[in-house]
This record gives sequence, C-alpha cells and structure tokens, in this order.
Amino acid sequence: MRFSKMLIPTLKESPADAEVVSHKLMLRGGYIRKLASGIYSYLPLGLAAIRKVEKIVQEEMNLAGAQELLLPMVQPSDLWKESGRWQKYGAELLRFTDRHDRESCLGPTHEEVITDLVRKNLHSYRDLPINLYQIQTKFRDEIRPRFGLMRGREFIMKDGYSFDATESGAEETYEKMNVAYHKIFSRCGLKFRAVDADSGTIGGSFSHEFMVLADTGEDTIVTCRNCSYAANMEKAQAAISPSDNAEMKDLEKIETPGKRKVVAVCDFLNITPDKLVKTLIYIVDGTPVAVLLRGDHEVQEVKLQNLLNADEIRLADDKEVFDATGVPTGYLGPAGLGIKKVADQEVGQMRNFAIGANEKNYHMLNANLERDFEIDAIGDIRTVTEQDLCPKCAGPLELTKGIEVGHIFKLGTSYSESLKATFLDSQGEEKYFIMGCYGIGVSRIVAAAIEQNHDKDGMIFPMPIAPFQVMILNLSTKDEDITHAAEALYQKCLDNGIEAIIDDRDERPGIKFKDADLIGIPLRVNVGKNFSKDGQVEIKIRSTGETLSFSADDAPEKIKKLVEEALHIDNL
Ligand SMILES: [Zn+2]
Repeated sequence: MRFSKMLIPTLKESPADAEVVSHKLMLRGGYIRKLASGIYSYLPLGLAAIRKVEKIVQEEMNLAGAQELLLPMVQPSDLWKESGRWQKYGAELLRFTDRHDRESCLGPTHEEVITDLVRKNLHSYRDLPINLYQIQTKFRDEIRPRFGLMRGREFIMKDGYSFDATESGAEETYEKMNVAYHKIFSRCGLKFRAVDADSGTIGGSFSHEFMVLADTGEDTIVTCRNCSYAANMEKAQAAISPSDNAEMKDLEKIETPGKRKVVAVCDFLNITPDKLVKTLIYIVDGTPVAVLLRGDHEVQEVKLQNLLNADEIRLADDKEVFDATGVPTGYLGPAGLGIKKVADQEVGQMRNFAIGANEKNYHMLNANLERDFEIDAIGDIRTVTEQDLCPKCAGPLELTKGIEVGHIFKLGTSYSESLKATFLDSQGEEKYFIMGCYGIGVSRIVAAAIEQNHDKDGMIFPMPIAPFQVMILNLSTKDEDITHAAEALYQKCLDNGIEAIIDDRDERPGIKFKDADLIGIPLRVNVGKNFSKDGQVEIKIRSTGETLSFSADDAPEKIKKLVEEALHIDNL
C-alpha cells in the first residue's frame, strides 16, 4: 500500500479526552476515530491489525475442532425472558422496540441465541460434542465508556460455546480451549498469563482469565515466583498462617485515649498490627454486619460479598456505625457486639490479640475467639499482598498488572436448564446439554498490545498482528534515483510475500520518521542520502531501535529474514 493513497490521518497532539496510552496512540496514529461515546470507526490501519488477530483466532479455534458461524446481532426479548436475563442483565443491555412493537436487544453476548439454535437442531448424544464460535460486533451500554478500544460500548469479540453430553467431555473441551487460547495469545506475540478465575478450590478449576501483562492494566494479577499459581486479585488466595498455640491470657481493658487508627493503637499498646483484630462495619443488603480482620490486612470486597452471598455490600459511614452499634468508629470490637459478625480466616489463627472495647477511648488486650466472642461466619475475605505466600507451594508471591483479553468458562447446565435444551443420551434418556463459553476481546487485544508495547514516540507492534510488516520510507521523492530504489525495494518486498507499505508522500524526512515511529510498523527501511552516496539503505527495528545498513540489493533478503524470525513465536 501507498501511504499517500491510504487513509492514515495522523495527529501531532493527543486529543484531550484520551486517557490511556493505547487510546491516545490509536487516535494519533490514525488507527481509529471516535463516532460517539464508546463507539469507534476502525480506519484501515486499525482494521488491518484487527484482521490479523481474527485470523490467528480463527486458525486456532478451527484447529481445536470448533466451527465458525455468525449469529444475529439483534435478538428477540423472548429468549432473554426465557433465560431470566431480560430483567437481570441490567442497563448494559440495550433494549428497543421495532415498528411492530416487538421488543429486542442488541446482543452483548449470545448464550441464549446459541442455546436456542442447538436445542432446535441437535437432539442426540451422537451429535455431540459440538463447539461453535463467531467473530462479531457486540454492544454493551457501558455507563462510562472510556479508554478507547479498551472499554468501548461497541467492540469486536470472538465468542464460542460448546455443548457436551458428559461432564468429562465438557472438561476435555474446556482443556482444548485452554490450550488453544495459550496458542492464540502466544501467536499474537503478547506476554500474558492465564489466571485462575475460580473462587472455590485450588486445583480443578474451570474458569480462567487470560491477561496481557502491562503496567497500565486495570487488573492486578497474583502470581507465584515458584510454581504456576496465578489468580486475579478478587480470587487470589494466600497460604494460611500457622495457628498460634500460646496459652490464653486474661482479657484486660485498657485506656487508649484518642487512639482510633490501627497504627496509633498499636504504637500506644506497643504491639505490631498483626496482634490486633480490627472491626469494620459493612452494610450488607441493607443490614449492618461486623467484619473482623487482622490489623495489617485489608478486606477484599468481592470475597466478602461471595462469602455472605450478598447482592450489594458497602462500608458503613461513621453515622451508620454509631446507629448500628452505639460505639464511635475506632473503638469497635467483637466482644459483646450485638450484630452479625464475620471473620477472616486469619483471625482464627490468632491468640491474645487486641480489640476495641466498644467504649470510647478503650481497647481490650488478650482477646480470644470463642472464649470472648462468637462469630457467624469465617472464611478468606482479605486481599492478598506481596508479603503473603503462595497457597499451593508457599513460595513468594508477585503482584503484576494486566488487561483481561480472554475468558474461558465451564457453564454447566445453567442455560440449557433455563432454556430447556436437551438431548437423548445413549440410554434414550433426556439430558441437559453441558455447556462452556469462551470469549476473546478481539479489538481489545489490539489496544492491549499497544499498552504492552510502546515508547514515547509511538506504538511498537508485535510482528504477528502489525498492520504491515515493513514500512519503506522514500526520503526524497524529488530525487529520481532514490525514488527508483525505494519503489524497487517496495515491489521486491511485495514479490517476496512481505506486507509492505511505502511512504511516498511529498513530505520532509523528519515528518516521515515521526509518523513511522508513531504508527509502529516493526521494520522500517530508510532510502535516502546514504543510497545516493554508496548505495546503502538502513533497516531500523522499531522494538529495539537498532539500525542495520545494507546495500539496496541485499535489503529484500534481509527484510524477509527479519520478518520470518519475528513471526516465529515459541509456543507455550
Ligand atoms: Zn507457588
């Protein structure tokens, strides 16, 4: 392609409303343009990168035995009412009514549609397993769309759904998808981790998120430096501390004037925060609940919400704390507190700890669970930190930032039951399909690749998903020899099967260099002064900044070799 003929509207400055790097650079590099809040047009460069990702996804899904189809974007409300999600899905589901007063929605996901298709067309265990996927535009009416393609309202997604006759079959299908996903993200040239997204047991888990590692990521991933343990922050666990078997001492009330914060109380009592249990009040579905944690630990609200099986939880304000307990914030303790109490599991390991005395300016020393107070529930409700140890091998844990680009999930029979999707098994018995679902944020991968790979000058695309593999700069379109050499090199690259773009614009070299860095094509070839002088061209490698000089005759072979090397990704 020719830069001069392509729609690549680069910008010098980032638009003011762009907050994250990928959004800024994709706007500046002419990859995307915003049409409305959270809705973007993919310009030729942006679409080229997206198509590369799609191709890798299609190849690996097909290799894993899945079949591609394409389902409608507009979905009738009846199906969603049948599954119960018409009400439950909330405001992210864009609902509308057509001219015949039929209610519909724009598909944010396709479990209903695919299950309907399968229940109407597959009736026997002989038809199973089947794994179907599509690559399609989705719409979710995000309340606050931001970050460009990272969190748009309209986006391109690969969603796949599997149907199995048996649990073991469903688990096998899940494992095939797990392997395919590893290959897909490796082939995209991305650094990523698959993390356990299952809240329950360590071990047989059937929900994994695939995270592209990037300092700018919104999600925190907990990984073990020793073993393969990896989980997202909401789900991460830590090895539990050994239980303290010290002799129980007598409970002792002690004056702590004006000491309300953990650090101040501990300083005053001359103890470390791990010898204190703090009491927080949460409003859980409208009811106050006391939450007990070791002084140096923090609540992980998703875990707390799961433990309590609650729809909504939030920290109470000072007034709500006083109304619920009659005690000012800072002096609360579990002993004698007449509301529901839940404790983090670490509290169960402690002996002779400090607590609030439920009286202003007083705390208690040597409190002990069960002797001095009872609790209603205990479990893992705290946030894991880098000081914690791996729950699998007790190795050191590491926290890194990531961007979720894929999620695989064993659904079981929840949709097939609600939609009454059944087949006849080998005994002629009616059974529900056992389902799995597998998503990949295709447009998000492109944004995540940029979040992971960029510098102050622009994007640095991994070769496998770059819109072009090489960009040839004609640095003097007025010079016949240079122009001839640049055009010949461009043609030779195309003949060699290399995806090349030539910057043939009548612009100064400085502008061409800046745009080339911004657009982030992995290889750039400068044809300019050195060619006039001694027939040399420079190949600049965008990721390392390394520049190599070659004669114009040798350059095509060298480019071919560099592209092939960069495409060869060591899988898994
Ligand atoms: Zn470990």
